[in-house]
Amino acid sequence: MTYKTLDDIGDVAGTRILVREDLNVPMADGRVSDDTRLRATVATVSELADRGAIVLVLAHFGRPKGNPVPSMSLALVTAAYADVLGRPVRFVDWDGAADAVATMRLGDIAVLENTRFFAGEERNDPELVERFAALGDLYVNDAFSAAHRAHASTEGLARQLPAFAGRAMEAELGALEKALGRPEHPVAAVVGGAKVSTKLDVLKHLVGRVDHLIIGGGMANTFLAARGVKVGRSLCEHDLTGTADEIMDAADRAGCTVHLPYDVVVATEFQPDPATRTINVHEVAADEMILDIGPAAVEALGDVLKNCRTLVWNGPLGAFETPPFDAATVALARTAAALTGDGSLVSVAGGGDTVAALNQAGVGDAFTFVSTAGGAFLEWMEGRELPGVAALFR
Ligand code: ADP
Ligand code: MG
Repeated sequence: MTYKTLDDIGDVAGTRILVREDLNVPMADGRVSDDTRLRATVATVSELADRGAIVLVLAHFGRPKGNPVPSMSLALVTAAYADVLGRPVRFVDWDGAADAVATMRLGDIAVLENTRFFAGEERNDPELVERFAALGDLYVNDAFSAAHRAHASTEGLARQLPAFAGRAMEAELGALEKALGRPEHPVAAVVGGAKVSTKLDVLKHLVGRVDHLIIGGGMANTFLAARGVKVGRSLCEHDLTGTADEIMDAADRAGCTVHLPYDVVVATEFQPDPATRTINVHEVAADEMILDIGPAAVEALGDVLKNCRTLVWNGPLGAFETPPFDAATVALARTAAALTGDGSLVSVAGGGDTVAALNQAGVGDAFTFVSTAGGAFLEWMEGRELPGVAALFR
């Protein structure tokens, strides 16, 4: 089983195509403050318009909870979207949508109003699915970031109309398949971030799939504590040391090597550029906090990556927002980027803070693929089936 793409969609001249995109952009003072998500839609929307389709973009915007909320109208995004596309874009309200669509011509593009103005969107209500479906002939899902939700516009429509993956969706699925679906081994995973508790399912899934599990960030402290290391005032979930032990045992059984740092950077205060010590993990004083992994660990991890063919990365190795605790994340990210450039590593990363950290390291474009999908990326790393993706596999 596989999914169909725009290569399989045939002659679409004059065909009305409902295209699910992610237009959920941040706003400041009534303006779009970051158009990354809008740019991600251009390949699909422009291609379909160029091929003569009538393109009807479906998206949610904010959390209006099933009611029309003027401040969450996609009318506010239409002008910025037209700028990004470099083409005219109409806005179509839900009232009279069918009449408005009937006046559209080949190659026209419209943004339909916020799908979450209907309570049935998040409930995946069949009546709403039919109402949406009546506006179009075909359905294209191009919003991987919304695919972990079984909503009317993400899952329901894919079952109601002939369904295809858009170009951004296709790129994301292809990259994820290369990273964890059918990767070239050896595979390394970097898992960092604040807490073990938010990434338990990720860790459990990865130990059975990767050859090297590199644990950094605050969550490494819980694993160190499980091994009897005194972590002082570090962020640490002491109640999860048993779980950390289980994960390390499961890794052993699966032949996955778990890498914990053996040197760390500590401070007694958490503020920019405080006095720090770089020490062995066994030397943390009672009043100190581990805020980054150390340079010796980073060098050893760089050597691990040199012997790997695939890397999947979620979570920073230290408290990267506060220098100098970004040093390990930046250094290892640059190593991974260089290996990717050499062609020896396929590198895929995702997660809100991870993307910010990679950009801070100046390597956001140097990885094979960086997912901006947030929740959907994490659910995929947990090995879960995403309903919006599953519905395309028919
Ligand atoms: P992502 O958004 O990429 O999934 P997370 O949200 O899980 O990543 O984790 C990012 C957060 O983890 C950052 O705010 C970072 O400051 C924090 N963090 C990383 N290492 C530490 C540490 N040693 N102590 C405290 N916080 C840390
Ligand atoms: Mg985060």
